[in-house]
Amino acid sequence: MVKAYVGIGSNLGDRLRTCADALAALGRLPGTHVLAASPFYETEPEDGAGPQWFVNAVAVLGTALAPGPLLAALQKMECLAGRAEERARGKNRTLDLDLLLYGDQVLQERNLTLPHPRLHQRRFVLVPLCAVAPDVMHPTLGRPMRELLAALGPGPAVRLVEPGSARAGAAGGAGGAGVAA
Ligand code: AMP
Repeated sequence: MVKAYVGIGSNLGDRLRTCADALAALGRLPGTHVLAASPFYETEPEDGAGPQWFVNAVAVLGTALAPGPLLAALQKMECLAGRAEERARGKNRTLDLDLLLYGDQVLQERNLTLPHPRLHQRRFVLVPLCAVAPDVMHPTLGRPMRELLAALGPGPAVRLVEPGSARAGAAGGAGGAGVAA
């Protein structure tokens, strides 16, 4: 069993439902269970995505799947959620799943880079990751996630979704009611 960290995101449709369903589906992958999950956050688009705000979370999996088959399973889940046709239309996503960390494995293959190459630059990844694993070390940077988050400084907004919030469901143009800082 290896601990794998998966980033979950959605900025189209019922974002909260999509992310919650994806979390449940991760626990049904063969040889895999969900050890922990961060709260859901509503996040301001970055990396040129937008204008729709995302809902993001991070899941900690215990898995017997090797990294390649695990990534293939994540991509199949994205396709089932409608992702295939979205690839051609920019950065809006019904469901985006990233393999952030697979134990402390470092890998550079055509379709898979570990750790995820941009995880240390993204508040929408580091905030939820730090909610479940602040002390986990970045395998190549040699620093814990909480230090990488602190090093980012101020940036795009990342707001906790209040439990029971209806606001975080349907995609909206900006964060606001229904979220807590
Ligand atoms: P994106 O559209 O940002 O989700 O990027 C998906 C592309 O990144 C696919 O071609 C993947 O094969 C590739 N990729 C490389 N490393 C990873 C990773 N650690 N997690 C998810 N996708 C990855």
